[in-house]
Amino acid sequence: MLIQHPGRCLWQMLAGSLVVASVGTIRTHAQANAVLYEGARVIVGDASPPLEKGAFLVQNGHIAAIGREGSVRVPLGAAHVDLAGKTVMPTMNNVHIHIGYEGYMSWSVANHTPENVLDHLEREAFFGVGTAMTMGDQPSSFAIRFQQDQLAGKFPPAARFFFSAGMAPPGGGPDVLLIQGTTPLHAVYEVSTADQAIAVVRKIAAGKIGEIKFWVDNRDNTRGSLRKMPPEVYIPLIQEAHKHGLIVHAHATNLQDQKGVVKAGVDVLVHTLTAEKVDDELLAILKQMRPYWVPVMGLGDRSELCDGDVSFIEQVLPDPVIADIRAGKTWLPSPPCSAPASPQFAQREENLKYNFPKYIAAGARIVLGTDAGVSAKYSYGFAEHHEIEMYVRLGLTTAEAIQVSTSRPIEVLRIHDTGTLAKGKRADFIVLSANPLEDIRNTRAIDRVYLYGVQVDRLALQAKFKRAVVDRDATQARFHKDYVPHPSLAPKPPD
Ligand SMILES: [Zn+2]
Repeated sequence: MLIQHPGRCLWQMLAGSLVVASVGTIRTHAQANAVLYEGARVIVGDASPPLEKGAFLVQNGHIAAIGREGSVRVPLGAAHVDLAGKTVMPTMNNVHIHIGYEGYMSWSVANHTPENVLDHLEREAFFGVGTAMTMGDQPSSFAIRFQQDQLAGKFPPAARFFFSAGMAPPGGGPDVLLIQGTTPLHAVYEVSTADQAIAVVRKIAAGKIGEIKFWVDNRDNTRGSLRKMPPEVYIPLIQEAHKHGLIVHAHATNLQDQKGVVKAGVDVLVHTLTAEKVDDELLAILKQMRPYWVPVMGLGDRSELCDGDVSFIEQVLPDPVIADIRAGKTWLPSPPCSAPASPQFAQREENLKYNFPKYIAAGARIVLGTDAGVSAKYSYGFAEHHEIEMYVRLGLTTAEAIQVSTSRPIEVLRIHDTGTLAKGKRADFIVLSANPLEDIRNTRAIDRVYLYGVQVDRLALQAKFKRAVVDRDATQARFHKDYVPHPSLAPKPPD
């Protein structure tokens, strides 16, 4: 219900950050009434130049008109929000996270509840992310139910939840940490043969799930000689998936596997080479196949994790977690910041610098993904801003990095109602107090976030995050050191 305060017009109520109505009230206002946002630099999110002094009209959660200030026809009685001096960009969309298991400083299957999934999506929204897709790590029944409930409006405003089914050889797939969540929940379909893979693809398609991720590598650095998914399995897997119109993502981290999966026609190549340099053969295959490419580089970026802008992530963390992080009690990065960087780190940096521009020049269609969800220090929403900063550091323009994080992901998610600021799209946007075209780190200067025309109540969310009870005694999964695999997860002998 609209509560009119005498002497105050509607736009003041909507625009003023001092007016904190309940989210439900704001939703009613914004969707039922027209609001003109005017005066900001508007970054559209596609290849077009920004509208300096732009204006856009939001009605019923959607953009009803957009143009230069003064050129947009405004219905009688519309509210006006003055955004002079601000920059507006679409909310970001992330095609690769791992949701539900992180609990600030704990990481456990015991954390996996609808409330925790929602908490993660709220943190994404807080940082200006409108949709996020979790990859191969959810039981399908749980994920479908959550998605339906969110669509039905049962949850408060948060990033929209998407998920992909996951497939791997028995005991293979997720890394040393994630597998401790996915195994007890039977979240990954395990397949050994082409026939099994085809049967699972049909099952996934019948369940109306649109995306599949498979893991190809054997985790030789962390989990020993697990079985890999061989081409004899993944080639028919991809072919069958395409018959059903599914999008296929492949986790592949070395040269040989990347060549194999891209040649086989995978739609989305996940990861980049960190221990090897790309060669002419892979570049030729990329040029021919032009897959989407989710490089996921930020997670290993020691410089940001050790020396980066901690205050940005600390906004959403309870005080005990901040204390733990400052004391180095987090498993990222490895080795910890107090220890010298490993020689592999310098090698990684050198390889990223060499490889990244070559993938792009060969036509790999880079798209935003972060792998967030494995550490409080590398978490939801924060990771997006860091990942796109890396794109710019490695050679993209700021405008390209914004497209990669806004409009490009919707091609992979196959939703067409968001990703750019254009007539007919949802009013999903971030108001920034600095211009990210000048410095990509200005995406962090978030003034407000709107999803579906509703201003996300960031202050209320922040207060909630700060109050979160942190169970530091909960199962703390850590990389390498403390991990003893359950017998069912022990490496299997090769066939
Ligand atoms: Zn991942």
